[in-house]
Amino acid sequence: MRIKVALGIWLLSITLAWMAVAPPDLGLSPLVDAQGAALGWWKLRQHAIYLSGLWSISLMALVMLLALRLPLFDRLMGGMDQVYRLHKWAGIAAALTAIAHWGAKESSGWIKALWGRAGKPEHDAVLPWLTDSRGFAKDLGEWAFYLLLAMVALTLLSRLLSYKHWSLLHRAMPVLFLALVMHAVALMPLSFWALPLGLLMGSLLALGSLAALWSLAGWVGRSRSHVARIQEVAALGDAGTDAPIEVICAMPSSWRGHRAGQFVFVRFDSTEGAHPFTIASAPHALGNSPEGEPLLRLVIKPLGDYTRTLHKRLRAGQRVDIEGPYGRFDGKGSRHRQQVWVAAGVGVTPFLALLEARQPGLTANGRDPAPVHMHYCTRDARRDPLLSRLQKLCALAQPPVPLTVHSEAQGQRLKPQHLQSEPGPLDIWFCGPQGLGDTLHEHARGPNRWRLHRESFVMR
Ligand SMILES: Cc1cc2nc3c(=O)[nH]c(=O)nc-3n(C[C@H](O)[C@H](O)[C@H](O)COP(=O)(O)OP(=O)(O)OC[C@H]3O[C@@H](n4cnc5c(N)ncnc54)[C@H](O)[C@@H]3O)c2cc1C
Repeated sequence: MRIKVALGIWLLSITLAWMAVAPPDLGLSPLVDAQGAALGWWKLRQHAIYLSGLWSISLMALVMLLALRLPLFDRLMGGMDQVYRLHKWAGIAAALTAIAHWGAKESSGWIKALWGRAGKPEHDAVLPWLTDSRGFAKDLGEWAFYLLLAMVALTLLSRLLSYKHWSLLHRAMPVLFLALVMHAVALMPLSFWALPLGLLMGSLLALGSLAALWSLAGWVGRSRSHVARIQEVAALGDAGTDAPIEVICAMPSSWRGHRAGQFVFVRFDSTEGAHPFTIASAPHALGNSPEGEPLLRLVIKPLGDYTRTLHKRLRAGQRVDIEGPYGRFDGKGSRHRQQVWVAAGVGVTPFLALLEARQPGLTANGRDPAPVHMHYCTRDARRDPLLSRLQKLCALAQPPVPLTVHSEAQGQRLKPQHLQSEPGPLDIWFCGPQGLGDTLHEHARGPNRWRLHRESFVMR
């Protein structure tokens, strides 16, 4: 909902600013005059080209700004996951409006075929020092448009390209944006540089370009980056290379701490991109290293190509770059609702931190945390290396947290109906696979009056 509202407000602002500089009579009537000249159609085509172009480039500027992971956007959107979703949907909307822009431009062929060239407006005057760049700016825009479409298609058709290769290609997006800024500046009519559109577009193009250069320089998240050290690494359980690993990191003095449930971007290796992992410990729960550095815990499951190699790569003493913390998954809902936590698989990590924050001596601000019922979904409870830790944390939490385990190997798959026995209305905090999250989301929308909190991270 927030995403739709943000995009709606964005497009409306651009449209209103365009209407303020557009001629009062748009010249659409008649579409075809008595002599058969398509005056109105040509004008309609021209307005469509300009408006769709303004929409598209302004949405791309928004995409560039959102990619900076600024705390301001985190606050405005209610979480970094929402910032990511807006980034993705603004990118899709930018591609759709770019298609409309291209379609409007190409429509000249059929207008000519049906009514001829008569009535076609002259080219509008542009910034004087760019008058001669028209041809170059058009070609540049066309090629950048094709590449933009290919990139959006590769984002949506995730099977075509692995995440790693996709993210490498994705890093070229700021270059495409800068090319499209040149296209827009060179072809935008001189009259559009008047207030208020000129100020709005000028600011957006300038800020978007700065953001693009910032990304290209690799400075995103720089102010929140910390050079930490691996204090300890251990495999959990006896599943060999399939076992999750626990990594304890010693943080430098620049680290300002975190809240339980937050995550960080972690780079163990300078040749590999940063991967997001939840901080699976509560603030202060692990104390400090002998050198006085605050410690935090990551629990990493070997879910993909890179994480499967970590048990061989990581050693105590190694450098690790940590950016963050981010996120607002704090497990605190309304006092008037029954709190239910649902974790599945490695989605248990934020709950380990939230439960640790409820242990005697660690409870934040001395406030009594609301009672909560926890559900944990696991493949096989008999071999789950995190289950005994979870059971202990639940039992010792203040107040104790009743835990229901759903072990797939024993045919105990969690169904939303299992939550219906809770005294409602419910506040459900969910972290786990998308499929289960979507099923809970469907049920939450029904007559159950459930409120579902989940960080919907699809970073692609
Ligand atoms: C907010 C958040 C918190 C997470 N917390 C944990 C945790 O506590 N423990 C844990 O084991 N896993 C966690 N994950 C998942 C973890 O980030 C991925 O399993 C890991 O990055 C996979 O990397 P890979 O190269 O081994 O896998 P690949 O096979 O390359 O990719 C598998 C999938 O992981 C995701 N992914 C891969 N690389 C990245 C990246 N650089 N940035 C974002 N997503 C990526 C993509 O969706 C991809 O499709 C979390 C993910 C998110 C978004």
